[in-house]
Amino acid sequence: MERPSLAVAASRVCVAATLGAFASSLAAAQGIDYSKLEIKTTDLGHGVYLLGWQGGDSLILVGDDGVLLVDTSVAAMGDKIKAAIAKVSDKPIKLIINTHAHADHFGANEALAKDGANIVAHENLRQRMAKGFTAFGQAIPPAPPAALPTVTYTDDMTLHFDGETIQLFHPANAHTDSDTLVHFTRANVIHASGTIGGDGGYVFFDLSSGGSLAGTIVAEDKMLSLADDKTRIVADEGDPASTEMLRASRDMLVALRARVQKLIDEGKSEDEAVAAKPTKDFDATWVHQGNFVTGDTMTRLAYQSLKGG
Ligand SMILES: [Zn+2]
Repeated sequence: MERPSLAVAASRVCVAATLGAFASSLAAAQGIDYSKLEIKTTDLGHGVYLLGWQGGDSLILVGDDGVLLVDTSVAAMGDKIKAAIAKVSDKPIKLIINTHAHADHFGANEALAKDGANIVAHENLRQRMAKGFTAFGQAIPPAPPAALPTVTYTDDMTLHFDGETIQLFHPANAHTDSDTLVHFTRANVIHASGTIGGDGGYVFFDLSSGGSLAGTIVAEDKMLSLADDKTRIVADEGDPASTEMLRASRDMLVALRARVQKLIDEGKSEDEAVAAKPTKDFDATWVHQGNFVTGDTMTRLAYQSLKGG
């Protein structure tokens, strides 16, 4: 089935901005019919639920204190997120965490925080939202005050809510420069803030939003340090990844970094690096149908990131 995924479609636009190779995808991203998208709710245990809509998937934690929501989705999906929450809790949304500066993670902030929720995010995300910024080649205007994070942090933070301990960590320059990894310690669930690929595909780091290959490896190492063999790792779309898959992603990225760095050290141009096919033995595992990050795209992103760093 053709799946109109915002994360994938929007990321295509981002790659277009970065690589100049996918210009036609802008229309596809703008043409998403949100009225047709449905939210699939998955119980991850201990009051944590995944709200999946094939885009910037959300997590909720429900309990006596109320509802904690990780990522509010795009503005057009706000009512559906609200309805999905109402099916598992009649309590109000008290806390919102925005994981990073892509609009499918904070777009419905104003609507979903209006009953008094505090919004927690990394300091860089608040700054970007307050000033306005460009992501995926599109200008995002300054956010209204009611949509801005009310609580920010720089390195890490711990929240205690609904009997759960929620640890927030900021990996610098990973998927973007504003990422928050969210670790639900009792439920054994981590929201990866885009630092692992959806549906088991190649991970995408958004160079135009301050992301990098090196930072993504650091983020994956951080998640591995938090995980055991039963941890569920939530990507932007698809079923949660296993720790085994996270480890495989990390090992692939480390190997890819070494290969592309070698090509750079040999003086190869970006096109020559792509022609050398450094991802050849990875592609069967990490390129899926409909996944916009092909092996060649991954090589270009790695090359640009290592050159820039
Ligand atoms: Zn993202």
